[in-house]
Amino acid sequence: MSLFPRKNLCSSNLVVIKIGTSSLTGTSGKIDPEKFRKLAEEIFFLVSKKKKQVILVSSGAIAAGSEKLGRLNSLKTIPEKQAAAAVGQNLLMTQYEKAFGAFGTPVGQVLLTRDAIEDRERYLNSRNTIFQLLKFGAVPIINENDTMATEEIRVGDNDNLGALVASLTGADLLILLSDVEGFYKNGKLLPYIDEISKELLDEAKGSSSVVGTGGMETKLQAAKIVLNAGIPMVIASHKKDGIITAILEGIEVGTLFAPKLSKMESKKRWLAHGKKPAGHVVIDDGAKKALLEGGKSLLAVGIKEVKGRFGAGQVIGIFDSSRVELGRGLTNYTSEELSKIKGLKTAQINVILKESAGEEVVHRDNMVIL
Ligand code: GLU
Repeated sequence: MSLFPRKNLCSSNLVVIKIGTSSLTGTSGKIDPEKFRKLAEEIFFLVSKKKKQVILVSSGAIAAGSEKLGRLNSLKTIPEKQAAAAVGQNLLMTQYEKAFGAFGTPVGQVLLTRDAIEDRERYLNSRNTIFQLLKFGAVPIINENDTMATEEIRVGDNDNLGALVASLTGADLLILLSDVEGFYKNGKLLPYIDEISKELLDEAKGSSSVVGTGGMETKLQAAKIVLNAGIPMVIASHKKDGIITAILEGIEVGTLFAPKLSKMESKKRWLAHGKKPAGHVVIDDGAKKALLEGGKSLLAVGIKEVKGRFGAGQVIGIFDSSRVELGRGLTNYTSEELSKIKGLKTAQINVILKESAGEEVVHRDNMVIL
């Protein structure tokens, strides 16, 4: 019996879909508006009828730019590709705007680089923007900021970027849509993988797609990232109509990479043991009760003391008034801000801080009780 059966995918709510260049272009390598239309139609169906939240990670900027510049499939150097991306990103978004516009759905462009994910403050900001777009009913469309991504800050390919976005947003599922049906071993499609073994990595080496950056190697790297975060991933072919819906109905298509850990276990393990807390807060008895018995988030009003220096997004300890550590979590505020707003309610916080992140200091989902 598999630890993570297909039918578990039916309950996925937040889904990150990575769509590769070859899934957006025709055989000539030119952008194919019909493919955008179909994708938008299916996503609109999933969002409006199935109440899913969808984030798209889309490639295609370099291809669209090369086509416009009359240099399809002939760009070699990084600066050439970066320039093509500068031309093409805009064209890519125009296609999405048109395709989703037909359903009255707005789209929002988010361009990321590796450092925007590694730096905690920028990480939180990007995350907040993505969630706000979803709240507005818009589809976030993410790509790497190719024009400014130097080697040090590049993710490099959108399979890895898709995985980072899935773990950044705590998604329930990552789907990699590609021109292949899934992961093949010795010419046979594997429907279920729960371990990225050396054997698989060797099998993946050397595979590549003609128009995109990724082959199977980057897809396995992506699988490693999400499985560590307790998030399942499916590789499937964009060529089948209704493929995303089929995946979300638990139908056996493509290759499922199944996590051994639950998302919560993975995150909580990281919170509890992964990082040394950068400081801590001491809370009052009311807040202690709300946390331990009510399963609530930690609010500024319940904080009595702030110890240490920390930034927003860092792990902090949560202590009770007898200095016993109750739990740990990611703080939405810096230690400096917390010293100003401890003991205060939302209205007062908004007066004191120009850019308040609300009354929640540590959200329940970002907290572990020890
Ligand atoms: N960011 C690149 C583009 O938009 C794609 C990278 C990839 O396909 O992995 O063209």
